[in-house]
Amino acid sequence: MTQRIYNFCSGPAALPTEVLEQARAELLDWRGLGMSVMEISHRSDEFTALIRQAETDLRRLLDVPDHYRVLFVQGGASTQFAAIPLNLLGLGGQADYVDTGIWSRKAIEEASRYLKVNVAASAKSNGYSQVPAQSEWQLDPASAYVHVTPNETIGGLEYLWTPDIGTKPLVADMSSTLLSRPLDVSRFGLIYAGAQKNIGPSGLTVLIVRDDLLGHASPQLPTMLNYQVAADNGSMYNTPPTFSIYLAGLVFQWLERQGGLPAIAEINRRKADKLYQYIDASPFYSNPIHPDSRSWMNIPFRLRDESLDKAFLAGAEAAGLANLQGHRSVGGMRASIYNAMPEAAIDRLIEYMDDFSRKAG
Ligand SMILES: *Cc1c(COP(=O)(O)O)cnc(C)c1O
Repeated sequence: MTQRIYNFCSGPAALPTEVLEQARAELLDWRGLGMSVMEISHRSDEFTALIRQAETDLRRLLDVPDHYRVLFVQGGASTQFAAIPLNLLGLGGQADYVDTGIWSRKAIEEASRYLKVNVAASAKSNGYSQVPAQSEWQLDPASAYVHVTPNETIGGLEYLWTPDIGTKPLVADMSSTLLSRPLDVSRFGLIYAGAQKNIGPSGLTVLIVRDDLLGHASPQLPTMLNYQVAADNGSMYNTPPTFSIYLAGLVFQWLERQGGLPAIAEINRRKADKLYQYIDASPFYSNPIHPDSRSWMNIPFRLRDESLDKAFLAGAEAAGLANLQGHRSVGGMRASIYNAMPEAAIDRLIEYMDDFSRKAG
């Protein structure tokens, strides 16, 4: 057995070992076909059954209402930054965006090429340390939808509540938080997520879109970006990322075996609480995020003295704790602890942090 380390990478992120073992066991001969799942036609009965099963399993996990479509597309969450305005409005119009960090700013920048963006609220004034309360949002009646980023993967800022914006569609980039806990899908018009954080390998993007939001795209919209086309073709207008969908499907089944999202949420909450409590109690480490906005999935922290960062990271690596370096734009450290990260990894991390801080004095 090769040794698996604890990989705190923000994405592509660690996958459940059990899922990788199953994929390995099935790699050369999937379901007795004498071929891998990567090598069969996406139009075959076998793959068609696989993609429908993945959709069914995801629907069950999230309790997706019938009047929502689940779409498996490509291009990552970043492609959706453009596809969303173009599908929901065509060219022109206006939408409200809430700025909570780097990913919402990227969404704003891209959407601004196609419509007028009203930045309804920004965490800039608090140094991106707290999600702006909804009472401070300046929503514009002329806007067609409201876009939020429920978990800012880089900054470590998360909404621990769902905005209530009335009848307009709420659009959410859930790339790094979808499946971390139960979710009331009916509160959203559109949910999207790149898979490589909490769902599966990169190459797959998951969309959950309310029926009435389909069919508004401008005729010039590239076919491959058109949600209606994806929906009409069961997410197979062209060749889908078959292996990514297969692996995501195994992750959905793994989640079901853990007890579904209520059970995984309990574990995620415990994992995050434990790490935040340790950081808060330590004079050596700090986390800059307001307690009402702290991410369960991405936990940034700083050492008292940043000249020790390199030694901290090298020691962590040697202790089997990989990829704890913070994003280059914010520095410091970041522990990404998605569903696949076992609770034991948090204990190991805290043990290492404690040890390091004692030795550093
Ligand atoms: C990673 C990430 C993205 C970018 O995803 P890609 O699939 O690489 O385009 C966008 N938004 C959030 C919140 C992310 O975490």
